[in-house]
Formats: sequence, C-alpha cells, structure tokens
Amino acid sequence: MAVEEKVEMTTSEREIMRVVWTLGEATSKDIIDVLEAKKEWKPATAKTFIGRLVKKGFLLAEPEGNKYIYSAAISEEDSVKTAAHRLFDQICHKQAGKTIADMLSEAPLSHQDVELIQQVLNDKKKHAVDEVACNCVPGQCKCSTH
Ligand SMILES: [Zn+2]
Repeated sequence: MAVEEKVEMTTSEREIMRVVWTLGEATSKDIIDVLEAKKEWKPATAKTFIGRLVKKGFLLAEPEGNKYIYSAAISEEDSVKTAAHRLFDQICHKQAGKTIADMLSEAPLSHQDVELIQQVLNDKKKHAVDEVACNCVPGQCKCSTH
C-alpha cells in the first residue's frame, strides 16, 4: 500500500475518512449518521463523497449483501503527514519556520505535546543553518537570493 497520497483529499472527503478511521469499517449509513448532524449533508451528498474516495483509492469497498462495507486504504497518521508535507511543498522554504511558529501558537497542546516538540527543537538546534535556502521558481516568491 502506498503511503503517499497521489491525489489530494478535499476537506469534505476528509470528513468522511475521519468517520471510517474512527470506526475501522463503516457502511454508508454509519457515515451518514455521523455527518448528518455535523455537516447537515443529505445522504446523497455523503454518498457522492464516498464514491469519489473509492475512485481516488482512499476507501476500499467490500460488497456485503445489498450494501458496501467501507474501510480506509490509508492510515490517518500517514494522511495527516502527507497533508502537512503538501503544505510545506507549496510555500517557500524560507517561510517554513514562521509558518510552523504560527501553527504552534494556534495549536491546543498538552504538556506531553510540548515535551515532544521541545525534543524535536533541541535536535533541530544542532543542525540549524544560518539561512534557509529558497526553493522557489523565480517569479513565485520575493526572495532576493535567486
Ligand atoms: Zn522562495
């Protein structure tokens, strides 16, 4: 099973996946029951997203009687990692530090989380550079280092 997501998962599709990740296996009714309240989606809307997820390869559909049992083809952890990597692929590397700092300020964190981040930072400190190199195509950022 590929860890990298080849195609993007939309915000709405992620809502569906979160239900499947939580339940392990789910019918479309299980998914609809959870999301009807949260998103006020009509069953047809949820079914459209489920169909797209199957087509994109994120959901596996196992026929059982007159319905399908859905399970995830990618773990939640891998998917979240991919989404985070994708964000950093889309910004100038020079902005990564500031972006992470902003995310950190906004994020609700436990003592354990802070401990973990501190460990990573201690490690990063050993390998930090004086200046991060820009990774952009000229014309897509205002870095003066091109
Ligand atoms: Zn740049």
